[in-house]
Amino acid sequence: MPQYVVSGIMDDFPKNLTDFRERFSTEESCIDYLISLRWPNGFECPICGKKKMRRTTRGLFECQKCLRQTSVTAGTLFHDTRKPLRLWFEAMWHITNQKYGANALGLQRVLGLGSYHTAWQWLHRLRCAMVRPGRDKLSGTVEIDETYIGGERSGKRGRGADNKALVAVAIEDKSKESTTGKGIGRIRLQLIPNASAESLKDFIKANVNEGSCIRTDGWSGYHSVSTIGYEHVVANSMDLKIAHLSISLLKRWLLGTYQGAVNSTHLSSYLDEFTFRFNRRTSGSRGQLFYRLLQQSLLSDPVSCKEIVGGKATHASTISENVDNLQDIPF
Ligand SMILES: [Zn+2]
Repeated sequence: MPQYVVSGIMDDFPKNLTDFRERFSTEESCIDYLISLRWPNGFECPICGKKKMRRTTRGLFECQKCLRQTSVTAGTLFHDTRKPLRLWFEAMWHITNQKYGANALGLQRVLGLGSYHTAWQWLHRLRCAMVRPGRDKLSGTVEIDETYIGGERSGKRGRGADNKALVAVAIEDKSKESTTGKGIGRIRLQLIPNASAESLKDFIKANVNEGSCIRTDGWSGYHSVSTIGYEHVVANSMDLKIAHLSISLLKRWLLGTYQGAVNSTHLSSYLDEFTFRFNRRTSGSRGQLFYRLLQQSLLSDPVSCKEIVGGKATHASTISENVDNLQDIPF
């Protein structure tokens, strides 16, 4: 992960399409915007920390002390891209302005990309940036459940089901703090290998702050949750209302946006996109989503992202359909 902090000014984002087009009409304007996000207090050499630099004729920054040359995109999601940043900005604007989700065919059309595969890869790369590195864990009261993606749940839980991917869900119950009566907080989704106690504990530890109250059903895989630093409330399965609601939203979204035809090799990146959209569902402005995605792109590790796009970093089980064969649907 790049060793710097991205902390631009929160309201410095385009307000609408006209504003977007005016602000980012040239490559230089995109570079300047990235500079302001990556180095909000001015350039800082990633090697020696010196603040003085000069711009080279190739648009690089050369540190005046150690003479190391760096670019504003080095070590970010845009590392080594051969396409103009303007096109990446267009892609991010398009994706964040789709209410439900973006598909590769739509992106290909909007950007005028020659290849569907390139559009598909861009989407996957950008989905990597939808998860903020080092994000905060969930806290308070958190409902946990699991669901199979790729068909109806069949067979006994914990034994696995052929051709289905198991996804763990954690979602904050904010009903006690909410005045609007909705009370649903943030969500985390993760592919897990099985519903064993070990897998579920790993998921909980990775996604929920210690000391939080975990609400689950009576599945034996959750029996030892109280031994790893959490309060544990066992509820009737039918009382896990917000977990079930989020699972049905996820399934509907996969079905509506991707016709449910998601290869589980890439399911993780769809889960990331759903999480990004769900956790920002109350965001008042699409421009703010664009800004967030861009900001997180600067923090994304280009190497691990390439692995995700290549499907190396994910779970091995398969679902028969392949996302490459998707008939994109307009929305
Ligand atoms: Zn230096």
